[in-house]
Formats: sequence, C-alpha cells, structure tokens
Amino acid sequence: MIGASSVEVFCFQSAVGQNLFSKFVTGNLRPAQSPARVMTAGVGGWIAPLRSLMRRESYPMAVNANNSPIHKDRRAFLGAGAALVTAALATGDALAQEPQKADGRSASDAGPENQKVREANPNTFLPPSTDHGEVPEFWNSFSTSHRRIQQGGWSRQITVQDFPLSKEIAGVNMRLTAGGVRELHWHNAGEWALMLSGNARITALDNDGKAFVADVSKDDLWYFPTGNPHSIQGLQPDGCEFLLVFDDGKFSEADTTLISDWVRHTPAEVLAKNWGVSESAIQGVYAQPPDGHYIFQLPIPGTLEQDRRAAAGAKGLSPVKFSFSLRSMAPTFKTGSGEVRVVDTRNFPVSTTIAAAHVVVKPGGLRELHWHQNADEWQYYIQGQARMTVFFNGSKARTADFNAGDVGVVPKTLGHYVENTGTTDLIFLEMFKADCFMDLSLSDWMTHAPPSLISQHLGISEEVLRRLPQDKAPIMPA
Ligand code: MN
Ligand code: MN
Repeated sequence: MIGASSVEVFCFQSAVGQNLFSKFVTGNLRPAQSPARVMTAGVGGWIAPLRSLMRRESYPMAVNANNSPIHKDRRAFLGAGAALVTAALATGDALAQEPQKADGRSASDAGPENQKVREANPNTFLPPSTDHGEVPEFWNSFSTSHRRIQQGGWSRQITVQDFPLSKEIAGVNMRLTAGGVRELHWHNAGEWALMLSGNARITALDNDGKAFVADVSKDDLWYFPTGNPHSIQGLQPDGCEFLLVFDDGKFSEADTTLISDWVRHTPAEVLAKNWGVSESAIQGVYAQPPDGHYIFQLPIPGTLEQDRRAAAGAKGLSPVKFSFSLRSMAPTFKTGSGEVRVVDTRNFPVSTTIAAAHVVVKPGGLRELHWHQNADEWQYYIQGQARMTVFFNGSKARTADFNAGDVGVVPKTLGHYVENTGTTDLIFLEMFKADCFMDLSLSDWMTHAPPSLISQHLGISEEVLRRLPQDKAPIMPA
C-alpha cells in the first residue's frame, strides 16, 4: 500500500488529485486519513445493495409463445415463475423494469431463433421499457472469437477490427500448457495482464537492460511497457490461462516482434558479427520456423531462483516491479454488497497506461450509476451474470446481458450501472487507458448539490433526497 505522503503529492499532480484535493478543501476528508480511505472517498458510493428482492420480480423476462419464462436461472429465482411474469405482462403493471412489450402476445416469437444466444440475452430479447433508440454495439465475447491453437497453448483476441467501440483497448485471452511458452517478444503497445487460472513464469527486460523474472498465479497482475521484451511460460501442474489488456484498440497478437522471427530474417554474417561468433555456430537460428514460434511447447523450466540467478548476470536483477499481487491488496472499497480493488499508478507505478478496478458484486447488488471522466471503460467479465444499461445521451439507452468471458465497452463520460442478475458473486474488471482510475457517482452528485435544485430537476422530494447514499458513507446493508 502506498504511503499517505505519496497520495498527497499525487493529489496535486493529476486530475484525480484535483478531485481528491477538492474533497480535502471542502472538509469532506481529513488529510490524516489513510490512502485507502482517501481512494474510497474519491470513488463515491461504488456498490449499492438490492433494496428488496421484490424488485427482482419486476425484471424483464424473456417469454416464449406460451408466455413462460425462458431464462432458467431467473425462473429458479422467482419460484412463482411463469404465472408471475404472465400476470405482470398482462396487467401492464407500471413497474420500473417493465418490459417494452407489455402485452405477452406482442412479444411472442414464433419464428426461427438461435435459442442459446437468446437465452443468454434476456434484456436484448425483451428490453426494459426505459431502453430507447439506436446505439453502437457495446457487447462482445471471447466465446465467439477465433482461437489460434498451437502446440503449447492458444490465443484469441478482441480488437477494434471486431469491436468498433473498442478503440482504446484490445483484449487477448491466452492459455499455455505446463512448459508452453509465449515466445520472447515485444510490441508497440503496453501490456497489462490478469492471471485467471494456473501458474506461469514471466520474464522481462527493464530500460537499463536488467532482468526481471517472477512466478505468477491466479489473481496476480503484470504490466510490460511498450517495447520492453518479455515472455510467459506455463508452469505445473496444468499451465495457465490469462487475460491481456493492451493500451491500443488496434493492437493485434499477429503483429508482435518475435525474437526468432527477427533473428531468422537477418543475414548470418551480420548475426555472426553482431554476436562475435562464427557463422557455423549459429546455423540453428535458420532451422527455426520461418515466421517465428509464437506459442510452442518446451520442458518445464528450473526453479525460480535458478532462472533469476542466470538472468541477472553481473548487472543484477531489475528493481522495477512488473508484477502485482491483487490478492495481497486490501479492498479499496468494501460494503456488505461487494468490494473493489483499484490498481493504477498509485499502487502499481509501472502501469502508466492502464488503470484497473477489480469488482466483486454479491447477488442482487448494484455497481451504482456512475461515469468516468478520463477514459473509455473496457470490461471483462470473470464470473457470474450481469446486466448493464449504458445511457448514450439524447434519450438513447440500451441494456445488455453479460456472462463470464464477455467484454463490454462504455465510451468515456457515458452514464452506466452494472447489476448482478445471477445467484453467485459477479466478478468483473473495469479497465481504462489511463494512469489513474477515475469515476463520479450519480448519488454523490445528487447529495452534494443544493437539494432544492436537485429536487426540482427530478421531481423527488428533499426528504427522499436525504435518504440517498451520502459521500463515503458505507452504502446501505445488503
Ligand atoms: Mn506481450
Ligand atoms: Mn464504470
């Protein structure tokens, strides 16, 4: 955890800092508070609980021609199931989440349908009545991405080519077997990563030419800046799978500088001169695959200490921390309904171009209505089920469902929420091409403006306004 003094220095140096600073000067925060508290207050309400399970009964439900619900999880949750939904549809009950087509017959769908896709997208099939207008697609999924499979593992990616809204960030999902290597390489983009499962050894070279070697496991992060060479190798017992996040939507895993590819395309007499060895000693280079290895199978490496010693040489190891343990970090914010860990340059200094929030929302909980001032949000769903409505301004709003492996994008400054619609914890990442995480909360705004002004805008009494979550108050019990 960073020290209070570094936070205070930081506060005067960046836009996030200005936000925190304004809270200092308005007396909302005491400078003596711990960095964790400072960051907590800076991000507002974060996660709100579901106020009543009754609200869930008013969710839009996918119905088939017989007016019976399609979504299995929600049917189980409701218990009352089809009858309840049918009644809600038939009466056109004026509930907040009333579907657009209040008449079950109007919403029926007797024609061809990709049933599995439809079941995974109940809020698309039967949208909330508040959804309106044409908006760009903000949903995508690794589960519909081509896998490049080689001996030693595979990769798949989502770039701006596949997902036009994903301009600032490209994502790659990769698996390596035990011993499988993502070849020594670098690229023209910064690489942030989260280990999703298993174990790996990562290596890198810092800007002083010093070596970094570390073993990473589930929930560990790493960041390799643009141009710094690195490698990843799966370890026992079953290799690993991880998510890579690049600070450029145009990044492609097919366009990286591979050590074998480059060297293989350099004349032997030049290589021999460069390395000060004979040409006959380097003929093995030209036996490598003509376009590089990319991913290939190797034996399990030796111990971490052996590799570190060998890589350090006379220079010694790099002082730069290219990896970060998310598990060993206390939540930046925690309520009865979830917890958030913010990782950016404030606690992971090497990650200058990518800021992250790792979010856990308990069933029924809500990542509150909010927006981000400094960057587009790129989301990756790790576990559970969610729905998100993005408000695109000018009366345009759209709701989409998200499951593990899905990706969402919210353009900079657009209002949105993320709601856990499943029965397990929802876990997802909020990623930004930025040095710092920033957000503002609707509730925070509404409780820090003249109440009469807010009241007259929204037709909400000042008495009700006083019941809204207040700045840095723990958000209502679940
Ligand atoms: Mn890389
Ligand atoms: Mn967000």
